Amino acid sequence: MLYWDYAAATPPYEEVVQTMEQIMKLHYANPSSLHRAGVEAGKLIRRSREVCAAALAVKPEELLFTSGATESNNLAIKGAALQYEGRGRHIVTTEMEHPSVYESCLQLQKRGWEISFIKPERTGIVDPDRVAAAVRRDTVLVSVMHVNNEVGTIQPLREIGNLIKSLNSRVLFHVDGVQGYGKLSVSLKEWKADLYSLSPHKIRGPRGVGLLYVKEGVMLSPLLTGGSHEDGLRAGTENVPAIVAAAKAVRMSGEQREAFADRLTPLRDRLLHFLRGIPEFLLNSNEDGAPHIVHFSYPGMKGEVMARKLEELGMAVSTQSACSSLLAEPSRVLLSMSRDVSAASGGIRISLGDIHTEADVTALEQAIMTAVQALKIVEGGMK
Ligand code: PMP
Repeated sequence: MLYWDYAAATPPYEEVVQTMEQIMKLHYANPSSLHRAGVEAGKLIRRSREVCAAALAVKPEELLFTSGATESNNLAIKGAALQYEGRGRHIVTTEMEHPSVYESCLQLQKRGWEISFIKPERTGIVDPDRVAAAVRRDTVLVSVMHVNNEVGTIQPLREIGNLIKSLNSRVLFHVDGVQGYGKLSVSLKEWKADLYSLSPHKIRGPRGVGLLYVKEGVMLSPLLTGGSHEDGLRAGTENVPAIVAAAKAVRMSGEQREAFADRLTPLRDRLLHFLRGIPEFLLNSNEDGAPHIVHFSYPGMKGEVMARKLEELGMAVSTQSACSSLLAEPSRVLLSMSRDVSAASGGIRISLGDIHTEADVTALEQAIMTAVQALKIVEGGMK
């Protein structure tokens, strides 16, 4: 089976697996314990925080460890909303955010918050002027993702950050950075980001751990209360093995970012070129997007049918994102990009990783041709 679902989960680096095992065996002490073993475990967390901070060019005190980016996004949005509701009860976000952002906003909406959901252009890119036009004096937070997890489009974060801050200097800017880190350059300062979420399992790190950058001076109301872990922002005994291994993955994938992009960009472009040759397909991604995501729709054919056929042919692809694929509903992301229901129900996401080679792409192209023919999708136009 060839795995084309890197945007959903990645195989951990060997070093990550070894680190997890070692720390589980050797450093099982509770980092809050006062004895030596506990102090040692605490030091490992401190060191890991420094490593992640260096990779993001931020201060270690500005980073906290969570259980994953879903939690980081929930904490960024609801934590800021609860903390700053005195300033107003308005949030600006987009129609194409990950469910962990989108549903957090919907939950606040049910509690009386006003949410402006900005519609992206047909290209899947959000117009910064539209975001800016929605910002008001009572806007507490703007949340826009770096790279869309379904179609791979890259949002103009620098323009958005600068515009919104020039309109309302108190507004907080949250970026869901999950699909961008390790693939594109990240500059929290240039974006004027106050909050930034990361998920190590998308960058060959472990699951069960996430990161949230909280800019110095920004306060959040914790969602999990209990002990004083993570500066009182996230109670619960720290997952030391996952934290140390996450720091490894953050460092390694950060260092390998350019090599990753250089390697994958030609493969991605080749796939895009191939898919454009199939007249029945509608491309939802292009060369301007992230180097690891290719997305197309076959209007009229359910994505699951195509994905299942490709699986029979040894190719693991995704329909929508992994978090939404069980819903069997048209993709909210594609609908936001003005695709009709038929195209939004027939999406296929191919996401690449550093294991992939030209030969793998050839095999995938052949499988797609076979699948298309087997499903009698194409009557003409293909050789
Ligand atoms: N945001 C984006 C853009 C994602 O792709 C994902 C993972 N599908 C998440 C947030 C949630 O991350 P996690 O799996 O760590 O909860």
